[in-house]
Amino acid sequence: MTKARRLEGQVVASAMREEIKPAVAAFAAAHGRRPGLGIVLVGDDPASHVYVKHKLKAAEEWGFYADCARMPASASLDDVLAAVDRLNHSPIHDGILVQAPLPKALGKDATQRVFDAIAVEKDVDGFAAENVGLLSQNRATLVACTPAGVIEMLVREGVTIAGARAVVLGRSDIVGKPMALLLLHRDATVTVCHSRTKDLAAICREADILVAAIGRPGFVTPEFVKPGATVVDVGINQVTDAQVAASLYPAGHTRLVNFASRGTMLVGDVHPRVEDVAGAMTPVPGGVGPLTITMLMKNTLLAAQNRSAKPVATIPGQ
Ligand code: NAP
Repeated sequence: MTKARRLEGQVVASAMREEIKPAVAAFAAAHGRRPGLGIVLVGDDPASHVYVKHKLKAAEEWGFYADCARMPASASLDDVLAAVDRLNHSPIHDGILVQAPLPKALGKDATQRVFDAIAVEKDVDGFAAENVGLLSQNRATLVACTPAGVIEMLVREGVTIAGARAVVLGRSDIVGKPMALLLLHRDATVTVCHSRTKDLAAICREADILVAAIGRPGFVTPEFVKPGATVVDVGINQVTDAQVAASLYPAGHTRLVNFASRGTMLVGDVHPRVEDVAGAMTPVPGGVGPLTITMLMKNTLLAAQNRSAKPVATIPGQ
């Protein structure tokens, strides 16, 4: 049986890095400072701390300036908004990223309020309402990193988007919706599915391009996939339940052996057996994940270039 072609995010990310690094160096040479990224991290969520560590490391390696304002879980919404405001006015920060999720104690709409407080031209995650609006009209500059990374991967891997039937599984503001818009702008015919969708497997089976972003380990089984389809797995799920692990891989598989010693493993939303049906498929880890950070770096460079291209306002009489 032919297995699906693996779409290696790491390879695409490395190629992009080599393209972007000279532009970062050129910016630094022209402006006497590196493009700058400011991160705000609130609370103790372990995954968030890991993500921020990776983003700071990547920024350093790529030649950016980056720092992180770490705030305790007890910080108030006003404290977080004040941190964003400082970065909005900072001359050395071109991009601002507030790591989600924010602590629940800040309230239900806190996350969007904080995203909306970020200066539009520094909103490198593309989550602020104005940037989302621009995306819906297909004139965005800063687009949400994960969906933008998926498009970059599809294009570079030669997957035809125009005219394709695309199904996006998941309708979140940070992945599903922007993903659907980006596919639509590239002339795919797009269906968005969610937890209330009926006949889910049948709808997914119509897809030439299936993007799964639901946060359910191995949910997308071969029954969801049209033979030969391209399957993009955005999900990142930490599995610690041995039964769940055993449902994903056959006995003796290397990943199960590793799971037995570590007690945990990272899996996507797509069941590994889908590789027997799909034409191409992203692995987890190593698929979409590396592209998210790559697009963050690209957006930060873009924000820096756009900010520096703006004419400096002169005040009459001064
Ligand atoms: P989210 O905000 O929790 O949204 C999940 C979406 O999936 C919702 O729209 C939900 O439907 C839908 N859904 C959940 N269970 C479903 C089911 N059984 N059938 C159909 N639809 C279902 O999640 P997210 O932030 O979009 O993230 C999704 C996944 O991507 C997570 O695993 C996350 O860790 C991962 N992620 C990865 C990256 C990366 O860099 N690779 C970046 C961001 C997120 P309703 O709207 O009806 O509730």
